[in-house]
Amino acid sequence: MAGLITRFAPSPTGPLHLGHAFSALTAFDLAQSAGGTFLLRIEDIDTARCRPAFEAGIFDDLHWLGLSWPTPVLRQSTRGPAYAAALARLEALGVTYRCTCTRGDIRAALSAPQEGAPMIGPDGPVYPGTCRTAGTSDPNAAIRLDMGRAVALTGPLRFLERGPLHAGEHRLDPDALIDGVGDIVLARRDIGTSYHLSVVVDDAAQAITHVVRGEDLFAATAVHVVLQALLALPHPVYHHHRLIRDETGKRLAKRDDARAIARYRADGLSPADVRAMVGL
Ligand code: GLU
Repeated sequence: MAGLITRFAPSPTGPLHLGHAFSALTAFDLAQSAGGTFLLRIEDIDTARCRPAFEAGIFDDLHWLGLSWPTPVLRQSTRGPAYAAALARLEALGVTYRCTCTRGDIRAALSAPQEGAPMIGPDGPVYPGTCRTAGTSDPNAAIRLDMGRAVALTGPLRFLERGPLHAGEHRLDPDALIDGVGDIVLARRDIGTSYHLSVVVDDAAQAITHVVRGEDLFAATAVHVVLQALLALPHPVYHHHRLIRDETGKRLAKRDDARAIARYRADGLSPADVRAMVGL
């Protein structure tokens, strides 16, 4: 497995907690065991929610856990031109459209009596396609992927999973992508990109061979595989891991300060204690 490259890609929108530690350690251990490389990437496209103090905390916590990585790290806030180029390529393929719907518009459209219960996709309720049919030329609109056109263009899609939860080859079902994922946003009007587009562009730019992430992102991975095919980028191998939950079974969130790594550090626990707490 020489040449394995993996990454941990947190957003500096809160303190790292046990779930992040598990994800980062899993990726790091995978790289170590294969003689590969572990990268850190800072996913700070959402500048309104990112804070320098959280970014500094990420570096501190990960170093304390015993992780190391090549520097300088890639920060997504510097990557606007690369995202714009990828977006232009998707637009040229004819698989995008502009959308002016607000969250309220989408909620209203989905609550129409004939709609039934909305499907929930990786970004929440599946977009009902209002602007796909209505059309808009508003230059400040968001840009969405037309999933129907996208999967018609890519043909059959598959990816390889090596995580223990779903190991094996996964074929993507085009109908499930259209109905259950839908026309996801590629570029938000405020930041000109999205989580999905940025991750796909950067995983390729950094030659990531193995993406380690929580199973909450399994549906997002399907979007990424579609975008990789459209952009003629390689598909990494995926490793989705279990989520770390609190004692009530709820998955940890950024605001779970009680389980912040910094809190355990302050309480005098060791990195080995944290490893044991997440089952490593
Ligand atoms: N920045 C994202 C997160 O913190 C991305 C992780 C990923 O794409 O694997 O959830």
